[in-house]
Amino acid sequence: MTTHTPSTRRVVFSAVLSLSVALTGCATQDEQAGYDPNKTYSLTVLHTNDHHGRFWQNEDGEWGMAARKTLIDDIREEVESKGGDVLLLSGGDINTGVPESDLQDAVPDFSGMNMIGYDAMAVGNHEFDNSIETLRMQEQLADFPFLSANIYETESDERLFKPYKIFQVNDLKVAVLGLTTDDTAKVALADNIEGIEFRSPIEEAEELVPELKDKADIIIASTHMGHYQNARHGANAPGDVTLAREVDDIDLIVGGHSQNPLFKPDQQNDT
Ligand SMILES: [Zn+2]
Repeated sequence: MTTHTPSTRRVVFSAVLSLSVALTGCATQDEQAGYDPNKTYSLTVLHTNDHHGRFWQNEDGEWGMAARKTLIDDIREEVESKGGDVLLLSGGDINTGVPESDLQDAVPDFSGMNMIGYDAMAVGNHEFDNSIETLRMQEQLADFPFLSANIYETESDERLFKPYKIFQVNDLKVAVLGLTTDDTAKVALADNIEGIEFRSPIEEAEELVPELKDKADIIIASTHMGHYQNARHGANAPGDVTLAREVDDIDLIVGGHSQNPLFKPDQQNDT
């Protein structure tokens, strides 16, 4: 994969699902699902996380979202030329990081995400660095849903965001479930999360995934919970590895928050 900037190299992660594998065990759903069980479908999931306000060039002259768009457009073209489909997901934490973004409430960042064509975003803890009104403005601006199954308004006991979205991709129904670290309650400014509860994302997933299994052929968790090797999350709330171990039937987890690279494509990438 050609990369354009160090930050792009760190955040763009491509996972290619082989549906002949992913749909094993779904034979009983074939008739209602609408896909051809004898056909192999190709779905490429692109994912970025922890953008933190880096919408434009940095001091080294590297162009953030413009470079990302070039890279993602190239990947889309390549995938689609081979008959595949792309889903583009964000693991959240769009907010907070550089003054040019912070002073504009991340409007350039969400506008850029619209231009790049994101399909969905998990809500990150840094989305609560601003007031709920600012967060709602950002949600209105976005052409894609903000997803989180485990953030509730205490008074109404209602979720603040949609828990998931089901995408029709070719013949397949792909559910994208959003989950947010329950550490948000500890790290966000108290004024911004008054009356808001961050419940266990793992317990919410345990409840929702069986429901999604009836509605979708593939279940993807787009999370902002952190990746802790071998589930050793220490003082942090449990992350993606714990989710993978405790909740059955999630086909793919793509997440953010801890900002540790899963892969090291070269030795320079050691952050
Ligand atoms: Zn975070």
